[in-house]
Amino acid sequence: CGTTSLLPMTPKKPQQWLQVVGHAGSFHVGDYGTLLKRFCEGEQQCYLRLMEDTLKPFVPAYHGVVQRDEQDYNMMDNLLTHFNTPAVMDCKMGSRTYLERELLLAKERPQPGNDMYEKMVAVDPEAPTVQERTQQAVLKTRYMQWRETLSSTTSLGFRIEGFRKSNEECHTNFKRTKSRDQVMAAFNNFVESNTHIVWGYLRRLKELRQVLEESVFFRTHEVVGSSLLFLHDWKGRTGVWMIDFGKTAALPAHLSLDHRTPWVEGNREDGYLWGLDNLIDILSNMLPL
Ligand code: ATP
Ligand code: MG
Ligand code: MG
Repeated sequence: CGTTSLLPMTPKKPQQWLQVVGHAGSFHVGDYGTLLKRFCEGEQQCYLRLMEDTLKPFVPAYHGVVQRDEQDYNMMDNLLTHFNTPAVMDCKMGSRTYLERELLLAKERPQPGNDMYEKMVAVDPEAPTVQERTQQAVLKTRYMQWRETLSSTTSLGFRIEGFRKSNEECHTNFKRTKSRDQVMAAFNNFVESNTHIVWGYLRRLKELRQVLEESVFFRTHEVVGSSLLFLHDWKGRTGVWMIDFGKTAALPAHLSLDHRTPWVEGNREDGYLWGLDNLIDILSNMLPL
């Protein structure tokens, strides 16, 4: 496959890997502690740039493209490798999880949809406007923006996608987890009230924030739909890494983002750092004074 020389020469042993959320069937466990994720060119470009950026210690190491059963995969480190039956949480960062490009595409199809209307009513019968009710349909753009206000994405700049505790207990129903108190309760459940673990996460998140503020990659990309993956185990080991760059888009040369300025259509801001500020604040409040 031509990538073998890039791999660290660690002995081959059976690898543990568990997917918390995301598209099922996109992943395979690779050899030597690696993970294969279904190929996406945009994501490959990001990983190649990230390997040359100050953010490198905060993303899984990237090992190139491999093929399996005629399908291409991006090969990266399996972050679970250095943990003992870890607890895993996926937090999707940013104040929106669709790209500006996706919004523009949705606008080109201004046909209100009944399927989206039905989904909206199923979650919240009060959500549709009088007009939407009459039409029994909503616009795609309206649906996209409404969906983000259900969780903490719009109000806090991140949302919990799901977590799995080391006892295999799985929680993925956070679509309506919105308030700081709800988020804090979910984190508290995830860490099982262990303040040592919270300390570990906070230290790492503060380091990440410093590096993000200086990173050239970060300044020059709209980072949407990307997650922070939280890992801890019973030995007290903790770690946080950035994953999922399938929707991360390079900006035109004249543009750069601070990731804190509120988004207005056209400015491309994603609220990533604002979300990280809020996340750090919430975790800080879980510690005794
Ligand atoms: P989405 O639906 O968010 O677009 P996706 O299909 O792009 O998801 P990812 O978000 O990259 O997939 O990953 C899904 C899950 O797989 C993560 O929540 C995590 O549990 C696991 N995962 C992904 N990358 C790694 C990694 N490098 N090491 C360990 N686990 C990983
Ligand atoms: Mg993801
Ligand atoms: Mg993705």
